[in-house]
This record gives sequence, C-alpha cells and structure tokens, in this order.
Amino acid sequence: MIPFNKAPYTGYEAEHVAAAVATGKLSGDGEYTKRCHAWLEEQTGAPKALLTTSCTHALEMSAILSNITLGDEVIMPSYTFVSTADAFVSRGATAVFVDIRPDTMNINESLIEAAITKRTRAICVVHYAGVSCEMDVILDIAKRHNLIVVEDAAQAVLSFYKGRPLGTLGEFGCYSFHDTKNLTMGEGGALLINKKDYVEKAEIVREKGTDRSKFFRGEVDKYSWVEVGSSYLPSELNAAYLWPQLERATEITAARMACWDTYYKLLEPLANPAVANNGHQDNCSETPCKVHPCIELPSIPSGCEHNAHMFYIKCADVNERASLITYLKENDIYTVFHYVPLHSAPAGIRHGRFNGEDVYTTKESERLLRLPMYYGLKTSEAEYIANKVISFYGARGFCSNGGVK
Ligand SMILES: *Cc1c(COP(=O)(O)O)cnc(C)c1O
Repeated sequence: MIPFNKAPYTGYEAEHVAAAVATGKLSGDGEYTKRCHAWLEEQTGAPKALLTTSCTHALEMSAILSNITLGDEVIMPSYTFVSTADAFVSRGATAVFVDIRPDTMNINESLIEAAITKRTRAICVVHYAGVSCEMDVILDIAKRHNLIVVEDAAQAVLSFYKGRPLGTLGEFGCYSFHDTKNLTMGEGGALLINKKDYVEKAEIVREKGTDRSKFFRGEVDKYSWVEVGSSYLPSELNAAYLWPQLERATEITAARMACWDTYYKLLEPLANPAVANNGHQDNCSETPCKVHPCIELPSIPSGCEHNAHMFYIKCADVNERASLITYLKENDIYTVFHYVPLHSAPAGIRHGRFNGEDVYTTKESERLLRLPMYYGLKTSEAEYIANKVISFYGARGFCSNGGVK
C-alpha cells in the first residue's frame, strides 16, 4: 500500500527531543528554538524569523501586526486552505476572493487591482505547491495602493522567485511545519518578518502581549502587558524535533524532487502527446483528435524554483477524477484531491465575497488530483504510480502515448 503522505522523518528526531528533555527547559525560546531561528534567518536572509505554533498562527500574527480590524478587506484566492481566510476574518475583516490562474492554481495577479476598494488593507498570496505567485506584479500593485503583502508560504519552504526565497517578498512570510509539509515539528510554523519595524511588536504579540523577550535579554528589568497578543511560541520539544530536519532540508528536498521529476517525465506523454508523437498532432484531421492530451501537468513559470511539495495532475473533469481515484486505490495507491473553494463553504459565504467571475477556481479544483509525495517515497514507487495512471487512460481508450486509440 502506498499512502498519500508520510510525515518526514530523518531518524535523528528522538535523540534531539531527549536532549531537550534533559535540559529541563521545555517551554519555548530555549536553545533549540534559537537554533531554528538562526537557520531560518540564514537560509532566507529575513531580518527576523520566529517559530510559531502553526502556520495558521503565523498568519494570525501577520493580521495583528498589520492592524487588521473590523470592516477591513483582505484580497486572497478562494482556492486555499481555510487558515488563509481565518487569520484575517477572525480580526473582523472580509475575505475578498479573486480567481486563480489555471496554470499554477495561484491567485491571478491581473485580477487583483479590480478587487481593491477603499477598505482594502492587505493582499494575502498563497504559493500553491511551493510554486511562486507572480510577485513582481503583486508587489507593484501593493506599493501603488499602499497595501500590506502577507505570503501564505505554508507549502513554500525552500522555494524561490527570481532567486529570492518565498516568504521574504511581502511584509510577512508564513511557513508551516505541519506533518503534511516538507519539514515538520508535528504542529508548528514560522513567521518571517521582513521589515525591521515590526520585529519588536511581533515578539510582544507572540509572548501573550508582554515584553518578556526584552526581559529575558535583560533590556527591561520587569515585563508587563503592553499589547494585545496571544501565545504563539512552540515548546522546545517541537523545536528539537524540527532541528534535525532543518539540518537535512536540502537532502529532503532533493529526494522529493527526484520523485517529482520521475512523475513528470513518465506522465508528460499523456499531457503533451505532440512531444511523444514527434509532431504527429499537426497532421491529425480526425475528430476527435487521436492525439489530444488526457491530463494536464503542473506548470512551473520561468523564474520560479519550487520545492517538490506536491505533484498533481488534472483530469478531464470531476467524474473522471473519481474513477481514477478508485482505480488507483484498487492498485493500493492512495491519491487525494484538494481544497473545496472557500467562497462556496458556509463560513466563506458569511465572511467573504468573490470579486469578479469564478472562471477557474471551481472548475480547476474539481479536476486536480494529488499523487503520493513524501520523503521516503522511492522513485521506483513513483514509476509504479505513473504507470498505473498511464494504464488507466490506456484502458479508457487512450494510447499510452497520450492519444485516443
Ligand atoms: C498547511 C497550510 C496552512 C496551515 O498550516 P498549519 O501549520 O497547519 O497551521 C495554511 N495555508 C496553506 C496554504 C497550507 O497549505
């Protein structure tokens, strides 16, 4: 049986957790947390990185630091995890959903400006599958309209846009270390603070609204309640679990990438029969075309370097996807679809609105299927899975090289 996901595990986690236990300091911001902060700052160049109890909480901190309040509007895609919206809606804001691009499933940057009103305060982008949004355009819009940019980079640790790490392009970058992500601490995340002005307040908000961080550094002789905050710092046990994974992050990404590349190479003929048939498509006069593509594959725009967080294919429609899920399950392969668009969910209807037309959000979300992807998946297993996808289409009358028989 090949599961859809396995939490990343290096084998060194238990000894680091035991070492954290031995220090006797289990609450947050001890030695392991400091090591993780230093690693994140070194990798990304962000002026400040803070571990959090989740990416959801990093997003929530971004909303607090951005002073989001009742009546504000925040622009975001509807095709995302609930936390993107929850973080802002819980501060009283309305989520203004904008359609996605079908090629990357990211927010369509060319539709953002039309969604801006005088209540708009921020744009929260989501780098789906670790593939960057079109950040040059988005940052330019934000600058011209004086909006804050928050990056939901939950899936994008060690991904880049034009050489710049994702999470460092907006005011705030939010990472997830949930066990479905590339690196994990069970539940956890990090906030990257990309403008120094926010650092002091971020430390306060994260420590229940107190200046306890300053107190521990000896900068004040007692600590007090200075802002509205919450408890957003994880325990040392979680940080200790994460540490050996950060140390081996490059290796973990490379192993995932090998599976991603295997899938892509084997499935490309199904997506692009012209490649497989060496231009045959041009000569085809039959209806339906005997070499039309069966599936679509993820597209990685130039300038985007991804982290192999996810491998998805797009089927013809929701029914074909259901049949493929069943077929793969019969072959002991577990695949899953992804988000139900937020604007059609009960809370999304109450707390959000869709600006413009839903051309792609619903349609593309119903076609998308994620294949197994985790650290430890063997390339031979990725080959087996890809070949089962090919035989599914073969049995339905598609040639294994992508055309209809
Ligand atoms: C996983 C994920 C989150 C939530 O992360 P947690 O660490 O579980 O809070 C938020 N946004 C996106 C896009 C995600 O993929």
